[in-house]
Amino acid sequence: MSQREWIEKDFYKELGVSSSATADEIKKAYRKLARDNHPDANPGDTKAEERFKSVSEAHSVLSDAAKRKEYDETRKLFAGGGFGRGGFTPGTGYTGGGAGNFGAGEFNIGDLFGNASANDSGLGDLFGGLFNRGGGNRTAASRPRRGSDVETETTLGFREAAQGVTVPLRMTSPSPCTTCHGSGAKPGTSPRVCPRCNGSGVVSRNQGAFGFSEPCDDCRGTGSIIDDPCTDCHGSGIQNRTRTITVRVPPGVNDGQRIKLAGQGEAGLRGAPSGDLFVTVHVKADKVFGRAGDDLTLVLPVSYGELVLGTTVSVPTLDGRVGVKVPPGTVDGRILRVRGRGVPRRGGGVAGDLLVTVKVAVPQKLDSTATAALEKYAEAERASGFDPRAGWAGA
Ligand SMILES: [Zn+2]
Ligand SMILES: [Zn+2]
Repeated sequence: MSQREWIEKDFYKELGVSSSATADEIKKAYRKLARDNHPDANPGDTKAEERFKSVSEAHSVLSDAAKRKEYDETRKLFAGGGFGRGGFTPGTGYTGGGAGNFGAGEFNIGDLFGNASANDSGLGDLFGGLFNRGGGNRTAASRPRRGSDVETETTLGFREAAQGVTVPLRMTSPSPCTTCHGSGAKPGTSPRVCPRCNGSGVVSRNQGAFGFSEPCDDCRGTGSIIDDPCTDCHGSGIQNRTRTITVRVPPGVNDGQRIKLAGQGEAGLRGAPSGDLFVTVHVKADKVFGRAGDDLTLVLPVSYGELVLGTTVSVPTLDGRVGVKVPPGTVDGRILRVRGRGVPRRGGGVAGDLLVTVKVAVPQKLDSTATAALEKYAEAERASGFDPRAGWAGA
């Protein structure tokens, strides 16, 4: 079957299904049509025979997911009257350029037209020039490639994360080898063009009249063969290089948050833009502070006496100390809010609050004077009518 036939024939129509039909729907439609038009059921009926053949042909393409995809894509390219619409460029099919980048479903328009067989519709001849067909087509292989994104992580102290910090990040990522300047060939030598694929990195395989391309085995899709590999990178042209960049972490970053630094990833090849750098931030716990969004939290240990009588305690904040007033009669566990002393907001402005939770500290050991005083106090407390379990009356 030629490309032309694919373009001309509407297999979906043939089976009476929509172009978005599921594999199941296609199977069902085919079974019914094949049964109805089967030559055994219609002896001597040439129309039914023709129909049976068309239906089988349609089914053979649409029932094969890979073939169906190619069929759909071929037809899409020609939809609306053909090529005039533009928007496709040679090499569209693969963006990677290097070995291993040919996804199973990817589709190379250059090859589609380049490999039309001699007796085909002539589309190949007609459009061949547009797509640089023939040997030495390096369009795809030499296309500039955006650098890869890089993932890294860093661990910050609690206060650093809350207030923002500038940290140096050491990163190891692949870069062009400095010895061979990325060619992979020993200095003084150079790679030669792969004779099998003429430097294109792809070889064609014909299945029926339809051409497919796959990475060239001889050069592993690179288009060139290195006889004398660079000893520093073993012919890969790539070295892992460590670089240090300075990253400004904004205030208020949370544990586990991922920060994107545009253009700080791997360098692009041949002048292409760099990839992005993603930094996952881990935040160490703090001895004193916790975080609840933009609020800082803090547990303030107090004595029973301080809760009953009230006091003012000096508590730490991210930015110096602040006096917190504990009113008389404050119950254990109460949260006191200190406005504006939480985590700074990004770009300045109003910060979150500091939330101070009072927690009574019970002495585990008292000297005799304090013990005697406490016993005396307990007696006085009872005499005053205080009953801590008054709420349980009758329980
Ligand atoms: Zn090759
Ligand atoms: Zn090298």
